Amino acid sequence: MINLRDLPSVGKLLESPVATDLIAVYGRPLTLSALRDALDEIRRKKVSIEAIDPTSTEIIFNRAGDMLAIRTAPSLRGVINSTGVILHTNLGRAPYSKATSRAMDEISHVYSNLEYDLSQGERGSRLVHAENLLKSLTGAEAAIVVNNNASAVLLVLAALANRRKVIVSRTQLIEIGGGFRLPDIMKQSGAKLVEVGTTNRVHLNDYREALQGNAALVLHAHRSNFKLIGFTDEPELSELAAISREFDLPAVDDLGSGALINTEKYGLAHEPTVQESLKAGFDLVCFSGDKLLGGPQAGIIVGNSKLVEKLKRHPLARALRADKTRLAGLSATLLHYLKDEAEHEIPVWKMISEPLEKIRLRAEDWCRRLGSGEVIKGESTVGGGSLPGEMLPTYLLTIRTASPESFLEQLRGCQPPVIARTSQDVVLIDPRTVLPDQEDELLSNLTVTIAALP
Ligand SMILES: *Cc1c(COP(=O)(O)O)cnc(C)c1O
Repeated sequence: MINLRDLPSVGKLLESPVATDLIAVYGRPLTLSALRDALDEIRRKKVSIEAIDPTSTEIIFNRAGDMLAIRTAPSLRGVINSTGVILHTNLGRAPYSKATSRAMDEISHVYSNLEYDLSQGERGSRLVHAENLLKSLTGAEAAIVVNNNASAVLLVLAALANRRKVIVSRTQLIEIGGGFRLPDIMKQSGAKLVEVGTTNRVHLNDYREALQGNAALVLHAHRSNFKLIGFTDEPELSELAAISREFDLPAVDDLGSGALINTEKYGLAHEPTVQESLKAGFDLVCFSGDKLLGGPQAGIIVGNSKLVEKLKRHPLARALRADKTRLAGLSATLLHYLKDEAEHEIPVWKMISEPLEKIRLRAEDWCRRLGSGEVIKGESTVGGGSLPGEMLPTYLLTIRTASPESFLEQLRGCQPPVIARTSQDVVLIDPRTVLPDQEDELLSNLTVTIAALP
């Protein structure tokens, strides 16, 4: 039986070289409180007394080391996405290209010309950095980048339609999840929503009638996460733009995802592109940076230069502005499109364009290396408010287990955590969304989890 008074004091523990090592890593205040807590735990007999040899401090240091590791681990960390959902909003949407991460890293720890005009030696604007790239890529006259697409829509409505009417079709009054509901954003911006048409059909005449009543703008919103099928009708984009022009009002398209390249090339349905909306005559088009564009979170608005100028001068533009790392990263991502290398450099497009045969070989290779599981046909999705209901054929590694939910829980507890899905009694691993760099980690985590199966 051990006398608790024989436990070493914190002061005594601090003299040990092990404590010096912990202090070198975690600093003195954190180490001190972890040692105190470890001793307290032992005193309160949370640790079996028999296990303690008063001459050995090992158990105390081990416990303090564990506490320190847990207390300093970042809450936000990388995971392995084996769900097959390419733009998984809960998993941070688009992973960046190598050039994008490099650009963001490089600009982050130096001073920069963020708001400094190098040729004039005077104050400049942060908005110029991505603007030229966006103009070249879309053919728009002007562009502005804000925090995300929800703020892009808010800014447009607040700057151009405060206390005035905005005409939206009932076929497009969307909720895209995470609290973004078009009518709510409208209310926040001070604009007054005027609904036209019915849930399934809207005609040009519905717009024409509403436009008689002194409106500020016409808003078209992409149905990002559902399809309108059956007895349905909507005017063409170009008709909508033309009727707005007839009434001398801006037409704005909230594209949501907004592709810059044609998704049909990859056997998917057509996702509306930014260029198409502009060509149809829309005055402003807004879209996200981290959906199909495949870059950092951002809201991008392109279009008519007079209107963009109004947006830039609105106080909300200052409140919603993007920081230097985001602007650097977005520019690097956009450059991939300009250099016609998006498909090879941007992870989201690499995943979309991955040949089915390569996915099958990868799944079979994993199956062989694990010495268990089975490869079957399955489906991946794009997700992230683009291409609703569209599936990409894939091959899945399946692992049969009596309790798939507890298997998933084990995987989530791995380092790095693995996120997978299940169907009935099998765990499904989709190679499409597993980044090549994470493959070895995935396999060792699966090996450990399979070995622990009862
Ligand atoms: C995704 C989406 C938004 C919001 O974009 P965030 O970049 O997530 O803020 C707005 N409108 C539509 C139509 C969308 O699909």
